[in-house]
Amino acid sequence: MNLILLGPPGAGKGTQAKSICDKFNLCHLSTGDILRNEVANQTELGKQAKDIMDKGELVSNEVILQIIKNFIDNNLSKFTGFLFDGFPRSAEQADMLNKVLNDIKVSIDKVILLDVDQSILLNRIMKRKEEEGRVDDSEKVLKSRLDVYFTQTQPLIDYYLNLNLLKKVDGTKEINQVNQDINTILEAA
Ligand code: ADP
Repeated sequence: MNLILLGPPGAGKGTQAKSICDKFNLCHLSTGDILRNEVANQTELGKQAKDIMDKGELVSNEVILQIIKNFIDNNLSKFTGFLFDGFPRSAEQADMLNKVLNDIKVSIDKVILLDVDQSILLNRIMKRKEEEGRVDDSEKVLKSRLDVYFTQTQPLIDYYLNLNLLKKVDGTKEINQVNQDINTILEAA
């Protein structure tokens, strides 16, 4: 099973991704986590990405393509599928993913949209900033991340709806309840 987890910053994608991957033996591919790792290790790629991430903008498609290709190559044989978290983030990236998956004869089974109202996102992220200290969790950068989400990522909702792949989950419920709602969807045929 191969899945995409879609939703705005602060929707709880990372938290849900971990539970889903444990339960269904999927490989968690979070472009955000991979990029933060590259930045922390001060790699060439991390140096290229840092300023863009600090501004809340999107890292170039070339860099993202390189990341996902490497990651898939390294993990393909180890898992029963992938969970894509934070990718694709735009129509171009959705095309990129299609090409990469076509090459390895894999397709996306479901796209889970974690739906959370904008008014709740700000509070959640401010709380996360206190707990985790992520540089891009400041109010100013968050505004830019939300703008990018609404202009570039949100159109993917219609794209995957048209392909009959999108399943919407209410991300404002408690973590365990959201998790159960997702499991119900994934266990259905
Ligand atoms: P969130 O979903 O909370 O905004 P992520 O951890 O997914 O955060 O991403 C953090 C930052 O990493 C983004 O703001 C962006 O700069 C960069 N990034 C992550 N994934 C992508 C992607 N698929 N394409 C371009 N940039 C990305």
